Amino acid sequence: MKKPIIFVVDDDPQVIRAIERDLRQNYRKDYRILSAESGKVALTALKKLRLKNDTVAMLISDQRMPVMSGVDFLNSAKKYYPDAKYVLLTAYSDIDAAIKAINDVQLDYYLMKPWDPPDEHLFPILNELLYDWQASYRPEFEGIKIVGYQWSPRSHTIKDFLAGNLIPYLWFDVETSGRARELLEIASIEYKDLPAVFFDNGEFIANPDNLAIAEKIGLKAHASEIMYDVLIVGAGPAGLAAAVYGASEGLSTLMIEKMAPGGQAGTTTRIENYLGFPSGLSGSELSRRAITQSTRLGAEFLSPVEVMSINVKDKYKTVTLSDGSSINALSVIISTGVDYRRLNAKGIDKFTDAGIYYGAAVTEAHACKGNDVYIIGGGNSAGQAAMHLSKFAKNVYVLIRKDSLTSSMSHYLIEQINNTENITVLGRTEVVEAMGEGRLDEIVVKNSTTNETKTLKAQSLFIFIGTRPHTDWIKSDIVKNDKGYIETGRDLHKYDDFKVLWKLDRQPYLLESSSPGIFAAGDVRSGSMNRVASAVGEGSMAIKFVHDYLSHH
Ligand code: NDP
Repeated sequence: MKKPIIFVVDDDPQVIRAIERDLRQNYRKDYRILSAESGKVALTALKKLRLKNDTVAMLISDQRMPVMSGVDFLNSAKKYYPDAKYVLLTAYSDIDAAIKAINDVQLDYYLMKPWDPPDEHLFPILNELLYDWQASYRPEFEGIKIVGYQWSPRSHTIKDFLAGNLIPYLWFDVETSGRARELLEIASIEYKDLPAVFFDNGEFIANPDNLAIAEKIGLKAHASEIMYDVLIVGAGPAGLAAAVYGASEGLSTLMIEKMAPGGQAGTTTRIENYLGFPSGLSGSELSRRAITQSTRLGAEFLSPVEVMSINVKDKYKTVTLSDGSSINALSVIISTGVDYRRLNAKGIDKFTDAGIYYGAAVTEAHACKGNDVYIIGGGNSAGQAAMHLSKFAKNVYVLIRKDSLTSSMSHYLIEQINNTENITVLGRTEVVEAMGEGRLDEIVVKNSTTNETKTLKAQSLFIFIGTRPHTDWIKSDIVKNDKGYIETGRDLHKYDDFKVLWKLDRQPYLLESSSPGIFAAGDVRSGSMNRVASAVGEGSMAIKFVHDYLSHH
């Protein structure tokens, strides 16, 4: 933690030097001593310190200074550090001003110059004030702060992006938080430019895109080489496993992720059945470990960077990125996983990310504190979200089309849900409309047996109705099934296209697509198992086939 600051202001350089010397001698161990020669300069410095999240414990200012008096300076400084201790340095003739300042600025003390010997006239007083300050001081969160409107889709995207990249942040709702308004005023940011992100070095950006945030938090958006042995698209469990194995087996390995590592598993609050973790582990913890492991072994990781297309020329594959640049590789593993399937009902799109969320139970859970929340879907993803949200929400209602969860959810989750008092499963129930002003406020639900409709107050609706592959961007010679999943290995023989596309004497490897050297692993692959462990298995297997492919080409 950074040391708190004692800030001294005096227009006489000699006085500044003397007081700095005395203060350093006594307080250097626990405080930083800073100074300025005018109130104006000091206020500029205080503004910067406040944005950087530095703490000022005490302000000591001379009263008699040209342009801005000590009392005026201290009065203005209150805006930045209202909880600091305020001390005025006065000459005998300024005592009236000092006494007035006790009321006007809530002055804590006035010291008469000179204060020699400091052991008698300075330190005992300052010690007492600092002791008092310490007693009520609560260190502020050091890290990223987001200020915005709770129900703004951009605020949600930024929170989701930071959470997915495992970056801790503090969220301030501008409508309810005084600190939010204070930060905006100090940084001169207008409400129309929200959300704003404040970094711990004092910098801030209004209405940033993810790439701008990524640059500030040290994520890498540009590859260091122009050619890689293996390029992995998508950093879910399959991609992460491929990166770990590729790097550990000496392949030059690049992994590209458009949002945040972890894929669908990354948003899972507790994976209970992953081998070797008897008490379960969260998806974000799994991805944090895997990212660290793969980069330690030498894999390169770019994020948030979107791959727009893959082109094949001879044995080289070229991927084009969203910024128009391109990277070459000898082989590619596509592990882009799946996206949440969208619900087709009136008003749903309008309030998506403004009260209606796909797969964001972790990011938005705190905002649900004390409210009723609704979840659509009866699969394992919905079950896990219900369990997580039940810790925050007053009541969680799970809306399903069938009578019960038995055919769609794992037994262990059904048991957990049955044992949780504030979760209610509503069978034969569909959401037919979402309504609100700027954000979700009500949903209309229909009972499919009676056809009866009801309008319910709803601040948050989470939708988990299954998934669809993320393969629209792949236009080249890669055969996909009718649902968009990538076909691989022997299953390719079912497709007439394959017979036209495949020109090699050998058969495609188990995880190889219809384009030699381009592999698919994890949920994006037709026939995958939708399990974290199988995605990890496929990611590591894909590297074995990459070796085989490279050694024969
Ligand atoms: P699932 O496909 O398992 O479940 C989808 C659910 O959404 C079903 O209950 C389905 O209901 C419902 N649904 C589909 N369309 C609609 C609609 N239009 N309106 C209302 N409801 C609808 O999806 P998940 O995302 O939950 O899981 C995907 C895979 O990932 C599964 O294999 C799952 O097991 C796995 N997984 C495993 C986890 C684990 O811990 N082991 C955790 C999370 C996921 P209906 O039955 O009526 O069609």
